[in-house]
Amino acid sequence: MSEVLLNNQALAARYLQRFREQVTGHFINGRWLIPDAAASFDNLTPIDNSSLGRVSVGTQAEADQACEAASAAFPAWRDLAGSERRKLLHKFADLLVARAEEIALVESSDCGQPLRFMKQAALRGAENFRFFADKAAEAKDGLALMQAEHTNFTVRSPIGPVAVITPWNTPFMLATWKIAPALAAGCTLVHKPAEFSPLSAALLAEISQEAGLPAGVWNLVNGFGESVGKRLTEHPAIKAVAFVGETVTGSHIMAQAAPTLKRLHLELGGKNPVLVFEDADFERALDAVVFMIYSLNGQRCTSSSRLFIQESISERFLAALSERVRHLKVGHPLDPATEVGPLIHSSHLQKVMSYMDAAREEGASIAVGGRRLTSLGKGNYVQPTLFTEATNQMKIAREEIFGPVLTAISFKDEAEGVSLANATPYGLAAYAWTNDQGRAMRLAHQLEAGMVWINSENNRNLPSPFGGVKMSGIGRDGGDYSFEFYMETKNVCLAHGTHPVPVLGR
Ligand code: NAD
Repeated sequence: MSEVLLNNQALAARYLQRFREQVTGHFINGRWLIPDAAASFDNLTPIDNSSLGRVSVGTQAEADQACEAASAAFPAWRDLAGSERRKLLHKFADLLVARAEEIALVESSDCGQPLRFMKQAALRGAENFRFFADKAAEAKDGLALMQAEHTNFTVRSPIGPVAVITPWNTPFMLATWKIAPALAAGCTLVHKPAEFSPLSAALLAEISQEAGLPAGVWNLVNGFGESVGKRLTEHPAIKAVAFVGETVTGSHIMAQAAPTLKRLHLELGGKNPVLVFEDADFERALDAVVFMIYSLNGQRCTSSSRLFIQESISERFLAALSERVRHLKVGHPLDPATEVGPLIHSSHLQKVMSYMDAAREEGASIAVGGRRLTSLGKGNYVQPTLFTEATNQMKIAREEIFGPVLTAISFKDEAEGVSLANATPYGLAAYAWTNDQGRAMRLAHQLEAGMVWINSENNRNLPSPFGGVKMSGIGRDGGDYSFEFYMETKNVCLAHGTHPVPVLGR
């Protein structure tokens, strides 16, 4: 075991000690609430399935309490000058940076993502907060729209208290993407993190208190989706739900939120294609293909899990790819050398393994991997896997596996490549590698996805829209798109006093 890993483990143990000693409760109206310890569940680390401590199972009453706190805090937060909200959010960002090491180690231990990817999480989270903090003052600005005898202007105001419901794959980053614009817009919130990885949400709530956010502006309830999550989507005080998670959950949330007519932003699953053409920069394409499915343990919504490779380079590309996949370093997430860590939960490991069986049954080849890795102890480790000789009709090409598992399919020409890439109910991201500029432009238009990256891996630009089409979601995050979601636009029409007002009953 390397010395750095031993050091990281010791440091992580220190940061995790408090979660072991005390049940992680809810943060409601500026206070930590730890209900009866019996009403809690064990939070298991994917590293060895031991408990990192107990976490409260929220009830409907606690969800209601959090919604009411967010509702009571809303008017004052809405009316606070944007410049003041800006200061508080910058303070929050400063504290994230100050606690970067703790956040990274806790997050890696809780969700199994390798430290090499989590190291920068707090710094990127802080950037999110600073980006939106700087827009807090101008978020309410609107348009001036002139008519001959009227002047219209629009203003935006925060929609109200919102629910933010997040998944387990990169819980810290996803929460900051949602919460930073909500607060900058002037919304108060109730956050419900995923039950599989709740710890960074507790750190975030704690930091909100340290930064001096008024009580009730940021609330946190822990627990299960079907109970506490569901209640947040139904509570009349909640005006919008920002949700990231599975497609099927998104459709439940739509139904749950219908009676109270909430605005919804749904960021859902994907089965994203990457097309590699014969004229692509071979090495750069190879790097990106490997990175975009095997980084973050393949538990990434924008991972390119279907590789479409042009027939003429297929053999060479797959040989080079297999070599890379075989050499991926699977290991303890706190080891800086680790490239692929353990999967979030034993139930998810079972799900991922079921696709290895499906590949065998459907007649694909398992070029690399395909087995569970028990040599690393009791953790949820799986071999990075590459399926070849697959077809787009197979389960492994149709369903989101959400693990370090890639399905490769070859195509003849551009038309076939596009048609295969689009033959999916999902439409989150698409990637293409080609040095033909005309083709790049055609692909940008033809690929059915909310985001298309040409000759690049997923590169996040905060002002750019982030989100999916088809079954991958509704709505966009990023820059002003986030404010469009978290704010209502009001039109004010002022007459110049010259137009004839219609006369009735004179
Ligand atoms: P999930 O849908 O099971 O759970 C997400 C959250 O929803 C959790 O907090 C859960 O407790 C809660 N929830 C579950 N049922 C609910 C209900 N009926 N009402 C309210 N809340 C409920 O998703 P997951 O398994 O945690 O995450 C993995 C999924 O997330 C994958 O499908 C992945 O593609 C998707 N994801 C999408 C994006 C994106 O930007 N599109 C980003 C990350 C992850």
